[in-house]
Amino acid sequence: MSRLLVLGGVGEALAIARHLPPPHVYSLAGLGRVPDDLACQVRVGGFGGAEGLAAFIREQAIDLLLDATHPYAAQISRNAAQAAQVSGIPCWALRRPGWQAVAGDDWREVADWAELVRALAPFQRPFFTLGREPLAHLQDIPASQRWTVRCLESLPGTERAEVIGDRGPFSLDAERALFRRLGSDVLVSKNSGSAATEAKLQVARERGLPVLVLRRPALPAVERVFGSVAEVLTGLRERGFVRLGETLDGLTGQALP
Ligand code: NAP
Repeated sequence: MSRLLVLGGVGEALAIARHLPPPHVYSLAGLGRVPDDLACQVRVGGFGGAEGLAAFIREQAIDLLLDATHPYAAQISRNAAQAAQVSGIPCWALRRPGWQAVAGDDWREVADWAELVRALAPFQRPFFTLGREPLAHLQDIPASQRWTVRCLESLPGTERAEVIGDRGPFSLDAERALFRRLGSDVLVSKNSGSAATEAKLQVARERGLPVLVLRRPALPAVERVFGSVAEVLTGLRERGFVRLGETLDGLTGQALP
């Protein structure tokens, strides 16, 4: 039987892995929760760059690589494309579409941390929702600002920064209450495109707040690109990686972090 390697780390990848029988492999970096109820094999930890991944593909006789990592996890996506190419196997990717601003939204795209800091200058109470990067800058907060940083880590914070350790999905009501409590005057976000973390954009819209959006990284070209879990499962079923009838259960209405 042909063997699939899925690179995961987001909810969609787990949803795909739940449909895979035992020979297939689901790989995680090891930063988050590791599921213990999958039929397929689960491995955890880095491969050691593109060369390490190519060696794994060879040793484990992998026939197809599926990059289902987060849209900002650009390094592993580059490694995946390169390793698949040198190994002579196809690389497919699930590329979650980004969020789109609607009329009246004030979204300002920034390329990197330096640009973000400059764009933040007019604001006093930024709410960071782009992961752990702000934690490295808690000592650099201007005297005029008080930060809120929401990320996976729960940390004590500082005199000028509150750190909220939490993971999505976040409901609209909970986000409304949080924004009210914080009194944020600007939201800082990646454009992850996930339904599980989209409510904050709605609340920013309701409150007329600008959103500083960290630009998506460029990702490598691969053989096939899919926009949803259902499309990936259809592609896998057509190639015999998933059996008929194993693909459609539980795909609707789920929030994927
Ligand atoms: P990254 O910068 O692209 O990757 C860093 C290194 O982590 C890779 O070079 C690789 O190590 C290892 N790695 C990443 N994903 C892996 C996987 N599925 N299986 C095995 N090794 C993996 O990624 P990142 O932004 O640090 O994100 C790490 C993981 O968290 C990713 O799997 C991603 O899907 C998930 N995630 C990221 C974000 C985000 O905002 N960046 C958000 C939610 C979830 P080696 O080079 O040693 O192979």
